[in-house]
Amino acid sequence: MAVDLLDTSIEYLKGVGPQRGDVLKKELGIFTYRDLLFYFPYRYIDRSKFYNISEINADLAYIQVKGVIVNAKLMGDGRSKRYIATLKDSSGDFIELVWFNSIKWVSNFIILNQEYIVFGHPTLFNGRYSFNHPDIEIPATVPQNLVSKSFMPLYNTTEKARVKGLDNKSIGKLVFSLLPQIKGFIPEIFPNDFISQEKMIGRESALFNIHFPESLHDLAEAEYRLKFEELFFNQLRLIFLKLIRTSKYQGFVFSKIGTNFLTFFNDFLPFELTGAQKRVIKEIRTDFQLGKQMNRLLQGDVGSGKTLVALMSMLIATDNGFQACLMAPTEILAQQHFKSISKFLDNQNVTVELLTGSTKKSLRHTIHAGLLDGSIHLLIGTHALLEDIVQFKNLGLVVIDEQHRFGVAQRAKLWTKNEIHPHILVMTATPIPRTLAMTLYGDLDVSVIDELPPGRKSIITAHYYDSQRLRINGFIKKQIELGRQIYVVYPLISESEKLDLKHLEDGYESLSREFPLPKYAISVVHGKMKPADKNREMQRFVRGETQIMVATTVIEVGVDVPNASVMIVEDAHRFGLSQLHQLRGRVGRGADQSFCILVTNFKLTMDGKKRLEAMVKTSDGFEIANLDLKLRGPGDIEGTRQSGALDFKIADIVKDEKILINARNSAIEMLEKDPKLKENQHRIIAEHLALILKKNGNWGLIS
Ligand code: ADP
Ligand code: MG
Repeated sequence: MAVDLLDTSIEYLKGVGPQRGDVLKKELGIFTYRDLLFYFPYRYIDRSKFYNISEINADLAYIQVKGVIVNAKLMGDGRSKRYIATLKDSSGDFIELVWFNSIKWVSNFIILNQEYIVFGHPTLFNGRYSFNHPDIEIPATVPQNLVSKSFMPLYNTTEKARVKGLDNKSIGKLVFSLLPQIKGFIPEIFPNDFISQEKMIGRESALFNIHFPESLHDLAEAEYRLKFEELFFNQLRLIFLKLIRTSKYQGFVFSKIGTNFLTFFNDFLPFELTGAQKRVIKEIRTDFQLGKQMNRLLQGDVGSGKTLVALMSMLIATDNGFQACLMAPTEILAQQHFKSISKFLDNQNVTVELLTGSTKKSLRHTIHAGLLDGSIHLLIGTHALLEDIVQFKNLGLVVIDEQHRFGVAQRAKLWTKNEIHPHILVMTATPIPRTLAMTLYGDLDVSVIDELPPGRKSIITAHYYDSQRLRINGFIKKQIELGRQIYVVYPLISESEKLDLKHLEDGYESLSREFPLPKYAISVVHGKMKPADKNREMQRFVRGETQIMVATTVIEVGVDVPNASVMIVEDAHRFGLSQLHQLRGRVGRGADQSFCILVTNFKLTMDGKKRLEAMVKTSDGFEIANLDLKLRGPGDIEGTRQSGALDFKIADIVKDEKILINARNSAIEMLEKDPKLKENQHRIIAEHLALILKKNGNWGLIS
């Protein structure tokens, strides 16, 4: 195989060498020419123009001005110490340049009456513009090779790299010397027809222009091409794998609806199914009859009745002679599923067992045996289900609750328990915006329960400040008098674990004083407790022996206590929106009016404020998820980080929704015509896809 020039180790690039090469590798992850080529700028300075100081206004992002420093002095001391220089441009206007850091460096660098170029973002302070921490250069020393370019790229760097002379501009110098060398060696990965059909520019031009655009138009074209490419292959991969899965892997056929399902449906189902539940069960039934392995994601807001859909699907499996299992992320949740499902199946001929980490050894043996001989029909449990020793006689359906809590590899383990893979239903109550669902789960079929069971009262949500503690306590007292139960939730974030735990303990103490024994009782549950203790405390609350439950977010997922009607979230600004929404979903499960009280101090960031306002305003999970995506970006949405599916270099699934949809449609269209990408015209696409599949491992084949 020919050695690829782009794989050349970075130290061989002119101007790099072993030492800087080391820094590039360790600090910026740039190992090869290719890595540098794909190290895109985060911003460009428009060098086509010098602004007059009088033209500066608040709308300008990054600009450059040229002038002479006429005055420079050190002001203030201690933390307010700053270095202020005054720049005068050719029209005679002045602007101040301010440094709070690197004072020693600037004060040495700046010489009175010398001409400088200053780049920066003008800020308005006390009615006057200034530059805080601008880049400043002597015109003669601006990288000559970049000076002719209209837009100067700036690159992310690190403190360590900066010290070694790799600041946000000098990386551009390296790219500049790289490009002529690799010209003609950047392979196109789209066929020509496709490029013109999608109205794109070629790959090499795009990669050159993303670093050194001559105009905003060039830049926009380069960005479009590279974003499209990234999103197209993301979608192509997912859809391709789905096609392979459905064509290669057979699935069990559950053709009949039998006694188990019908008895439950006709004689035991305590309520009418919602329209959405009916629709989803129908979708699942259709999948069951296709002879292909089902891979379905079921999204539904908290309390929308996903468990029941899971149960009815599992009953269809048993009607066709198969076993089914339901895996939940926590012991508490598994127990709760077990309890409610056992209750639903009381007096019916379906055997259900619970298997978790704390199942006694002797019972464990019995369960293992029962699974093997088929006498156990349904198994509910936690990660314990994944152990190799857990083997089924004929596992036909796997349901995974709150799937984002499990890694892909863990999930995959369950499906490979059989020769023929069982059907998979994954459920999530974290509503996922459409674009995120496409990029994360583009290979799954998606069902949505978008309707809550009737009779649910909406939850009254309010934002209170710490200083209103008396009112909050008064409210708690009243609710307890009405016979209700209360959750009080504290954040527990690993970085400040000790402090958080102290906060929770303090809160617990003051509540204990306010609501003393024997009249009141309080449960405490947090992640640092032993499972048995957690469980005991939880059970006391479930049985109504305690009125208040002080907890960290361990209760976030799935806990169902219909009598609990008040959710108080302390330090609410520290929770993400989706998390707050999940917490709120713990109440409003019974017939009583429920409340969610978000408590914060007065110090709120803009984002924090927006989150709280959104919570007060809306209870629609999808609206909240969309806003969360906008506020925090996809990387912070629960469950996406470890997936790696969102490692986009340039595409932004929030901002680039349109490009994503174009890319997805093109990928679908291509695979519809040529499912295996065997046609000659698709050869380069197939080759690139093969590379991506190799890099990603083949989890995709079974996820
Ligand atoms: P999810 O898992 O989607 O958050 P659950 O399955 O726990 O929701 O259901 C929440 C509650 O609503 C449960 O007590 C369940 O029995 C009840 N429920 C489910 N479906 C219906 C329905 N169609 N009508 C009335 N109550 C329902
Ligand atoms: Mg649930």
